[in-house]
Amino acid sequence: MEKTSVYIETFGCQMNTADTERAESKFRASGYDVVNDSTTADVVLFNTCSVRARAEQKLYTRIGEIRRLRAGNEPLMGVMGCVAQLEGAAIFDHAPAIRLVAGTRATDRLHKLIERIKNGERRALDLGERQEGEVWDVSPVERHSRYVGFVPIIEGCNKFCTYCIVPFSRGRERSRDADEIISEVHRLKSEGFQEIQLIGQNVNSYRPKSDIGIAEFKGATPFSRLLRAVASTGMPRIKFTTSFPRDFHADIVAAIDEYENLCNWVHLPVQSGNDRVLRAMRRGYKVSDYLSRIASIKNARQKISLTTDIIIGFPSEESKEFEDTMRLVEQCQFDGIYIFKYSERKATPASRLVDGVTEGEKTARFLALEKLQMEIQKKKYSEYIGREVKVLVEGESAKSAIDLTGHTTCHKVVNFRGTAELLGKIVKLKISEAKVHSLYGELVA
Ligand code: SF4
Repeated sequence: MEKTSVYIETFGCQMNTADTERAESKFRASGYDVVNDSTTADVVLFNTCSVRARAEQKLYTRIGEIRRLRAGNEPLMGVMGCVAQLEGAAIFDHAPAIRLVAGTRATDRLHKLIERIKNGERRALDLGERQEGEVWDVSPVERHSRYVGFVPIIEGCNKFCTYCIVPFSRGRERSRDADEIISEVHRLKSEGFQEIQLIGQNVNSYRPKSDIGIAEFKGATPFSRLLRAVASTGMPRIKFTTSFPRDFHADIVAAIDEYENLCNWVHLPVQSGNDRVLRAMRRGYKVSDYLSRIASIKNARQKISLTTDIIIGFPSEESKEFEDTMRLVEQCQFDGIYIFKYSERKATPASRLVDGVTEGEKTARFLALEKLQMEIQKKKYSEYIGREVKVLVEGESAKSAIDLTGHTTCHKVVNFRGTAELLGKIVKLKISEAKVHSLYGELVA
């Protein structure tokens, strides 16, 4: 009997990529074919993101496209991930072509929902919690990269920032058992992975139920102890993202300083440089708290690269409050910023605030901040010229057929002339050219 083929299209963040990898592993283990082609697959699933309104609109656009493309031979279509969790059965009304809706904790049960439909049910819905015995178990075939593995360590979020939907779509924080994480890292190392990224909405809020089992660091925060335990596996490179400022303590920096394989890059979203706005966002820290974290990072023995997220035009953000954000950016000298214009997410506390910042003002602020950051980045990146860096070669450059691309330990993109046998290797490059978002280098013999 021919196997049922499944195609999963992923929108959004690393957590969604990791969930897709997990779902695909489960499908394959349950006798399904996982394919890369939405035009022939028997089942098409959309793994959705709801952090921004645009990602949600994209879902309905894609459903329409698949229907047109596959007219007369429509696949069984389903929605999984954050939009599924939040909208639930309402998706069936918005898009009658959808027959399956699976929430963020139903990843391991997708095949059962498909079986129910095959057995005659018109529609299947599962918004339930993870069940006993369901563990992260991703096969190497399903990983998005053969060299860089995502390892989720915490799901959900307890912070309830007023603009954010994540605590509703992904539920409360649930930390994964340290033993399970360490075993996965050992497995990835034995499979030849060169880098892992510990991922979660707030990795440094990690609080497992069971002990991490590193006696000598009993007083340190669980996350810094986990970092030390993961570093002790000997995995060549370890990165982690995203960190929450309030839970970022100096022992994380101490661990990075201590272990060479803990990479020198921290992503620490600040969101605003003004205390009133931070309070309205309910971020739980002040600008001075954030700056003290930055000071501890900048005082590290090795130079740690620093990136952040900033929201422009939060409801009622005044222009002088935005100026505070500009000042903070000037002061912190970030290596990179993800700038987002505030977009309302329904049912969040911020959606009840009057959005007094016009679209024109948001755009002007966005451009001003972007310009400032480009100047900072230009200077920062040009400081690399003439320096030698170690780069994990991850693939071919998207812009040139003769170039390869990879990341430094500080998470900068570097392109260079090279051939396919270097893929998956860590090479030494001398930087010859700096752009605003990437570097160009030459192989050092
Ligand atoms: S910390 Fe705030 S912004 Fe980040 S996921 Fe949690 S609620 Fe959302």
